[in-house]
Amino acid sequence: MRLKLAIQKSGRLHDDSMRLLKECGIDIANGVNKLKAEATNFPIELFFLRDDDIPQYVEDGVADIGFVGENVVYEKAKKVDVAYALGFGKCRLSFAVRKNEEFTGASFLANKKIATSYPVLVQKYLDAHKITAEIHEISGSVEIAPGIGLADVVCDLVSSGSTLFMNGLKESETILESQAVLIKHKNFSVEANAILERLMFRMESVKKAKKNKYVLLNAPNDNIEKIISLLPGMKSPTVLALATPGWSSVHSVIAESDFWEIIEQLKAAGAEGILVIPIEKMIL
Ligand code: ATP
Ligand code: ZN
Repeated sequence: MRLKLAIQKSGRLHDDSMRLLKECGIDIANGVNKLKAEATNFPIELFFLRDDDIPQYVEDGVADIGFVGENVVYEKAKKVDVAYALGFGKCRLSFAVRKNEEFTGASFLANKKIATSYPVLVQKYLDAHKITAEIHEISGSVEIAPGIGLADVVCDLVSSGSTLFMNGLKESETILESQAVLIKHKNFSVEANAILERLMFRMESVKKAKKNKYVLLNAPNDNIEKIISLLPGMKSPTVLALATPGWSSVHSVIAESDFWEIIEQLKAAGAEGILVIPIEKMIL
C-alpha cells in the first residue's frame, strides 16, 4: 500500500512541503498528471490540492494525511488529528485596525464590521469575549476592505506585517499563532501507521539536524577539560590528538540556540581553528 499525502498544489506551503519530503530522502516522480504524483523510493503518493480542501479530504480518508496550516485546520474544524508540527509556514491570525485608530482591546470590536477569511475563528473570539460584531467573509485581499469602506477592522494572516502597513493598517491583536502541521485521518490501518511512523522518524531527524551544528576545533591540552565542559556532544565530545604536541582536535554537536554564546566561551578558553558545519540528518 501507499500512504496518500495531500499537499498544497501551489502557494506558500507548496515549496516547503516538497522540500521537506526531499530532505527526508523521498524522491517524487514528475508525473504527467498534475493532480497526483508517486514517490519512487518510499510508499507514498501525493495529491496536490487547494489548502482549504485538505482537511475535508483527510476527514473523508481520500487522503490519509495532509500538510496544511493550523489556521485552516481550526477554521474548517474537520474531524482530523493534528499529528506533527512541520516548522514552516509560520504566521499569525491577527486583527488589524486603521493606523490612526487605537485598538483598546476586544471591546473595540463591538458593533464593528470585520472583514476576514476566517469567520469561524473570529466568531469564536467574539463569543469568548461576549461581543457582538458583524463578520464579512471575503476569500482574498482582506487588507483592502477598510480602504474601500467594506469594513472597519480586518482579521487576517500576518507574517511580516508589511501588507497591512502598505494598506494603512496596523496589527493590533493576535488570535492564533499558526504553522504548517501534519494532519491525519481518524482511522489508520496498522500498515498505514507503520509508513507514517517511518515518515515522522525522518522528519524528526531533519528537524533535529537543523537545530544543531557540528563543531570542530583545536584545543590546547592544558585547557581541554574546560573546553569539553562547554561542549555537550551527543554522548560526549570526540577528542583526537593533533600531530602538533600539546594540542587536540575536539568534535561535538551544539544547539543553534546556544551557538554564539558557546563559541565565545570556547575562544576565551583558548580554542582555535573553530569550524562549524551544518548537519544534514541527525539520528539519536
Ligand atoms: P490555495 O490556492 O491553496 O487556496 P491560499 O491563497 O489560500 O492558497 P496561501 O496564501 O498560499 O493560501 O497560504 C497558504 C498558507 O500559508 C496559509 O493558510 C498559512 O497557513 C500560511 N502562511 C504563512 N505565512 C502567511 C502569510 N503571511 N499570509 C498568508 N498565509 C501565510
Ligand atoms: Zn486557500
